[in-house]
Amino acid sequence: MDVSSLDPDRFRISPGDAPGLADRPTRADDLLGPDDEDAKATAEALNEELSERIGDLQERLWATKAAKVLVVLQGMDTSGKDSTTRRVFGAGSPLGIAVKGFGRPTEEELAHGYLWRVHRHTPADGEIVIFNRSHYEDVLVVRVDDLVPEGRWRRRYGHIVDFERMLADEGTIILKFMLHISHDEQRERLQERIDNPKKHWKFEHHDLRVRESWGEYMAAYEDAITRTSTEHAPWYVVPSDQKWFRDLVVGRVVVDALERLEMPWPDPEPGIEGLVVE
Ligand code: AMP
Ligand code: MG
Repeated sequence: MDVSSLDPDRFRISPGDAPGLADRPTRADDLLGPDDEDAKATAEALNEELSERIGDLQERLWATKAAKVLVVLQGMDTSGKDSTTRRVFGAGSPLGIAVKGFGRPTEEELAHGYLWRVHRHTPADGEIVIFNRSHYEDVLVVRVDDLVPEGRWRRRYGHIVDFERMLADEGTIILKFMLHISHDEQRERLQERIDNPKKHWKFEHHDLRVRESWGEYMAAYEDAITRTSTEHAPWYVVPSDQKWFRDLVVGRVVVDALERLEMPWPDPEPGIEGLVVE
């Protein structure tokens, strides 16, 4: 495989398939031929084009209101959820793009059903909404930290499939990305957050405890992806140790989905032809 002929569908998990995270590559080198030395430079050039395409497609989406678009970003700490948002969607207009991060639920949120805080942030016609973490935390951290009994979080896979089915039936395109990094890469990135004062704000001691539960998180991701990758809301597992490759895969999936909408510019008001502004 070489980067310029990348088929982003190879990262999509078919309904019912297990992603096999333990054996799934986190680096492009595992996929690209050894002779593809220019892969990074090629990918970076492609990423610039993709960014422009996304800017144009997003404006068309906003102008035509052709669909609602929900992008879900999940991944371990440092997997690149923030930087993917910035680098892949940065050329979009703030008019029609929103980013919503989901952290620890407030008391009020906890008192409601777990989908309550999520549903109100789903996109409207013409909007792209990016979820930085999501309702999937309710079958990930909630499972690993034992925050509700097992019987309760297990039933959530079914709710989530139905919830996303409802959103899709009502005109939402849903794209879900698991940014897959290696345990080693996370060590380097966390260390960087400790060593670089500009990154201190991103570091919490809690992150080290989460890292200790890496295996349990991988098991939780494995089940969540197996049970909730559907035709209407597919999961893509993106090799994310290298940012240029991660951006390329996410960018390609997004561009392909938006291009399938075929969004010509809306017809002008009648009588616009030849009008001269005095
Ligand atoms: P960050 O993404 O670094 O801002 O961290 C957000 C934190 O909120 C992570 O530790 C998540 O695991 C946690 N979090 C997000 N959603 C939930 C949830 N539903 N229940 C418990 N913790 C959550
Ligand atoms: Mg954090």
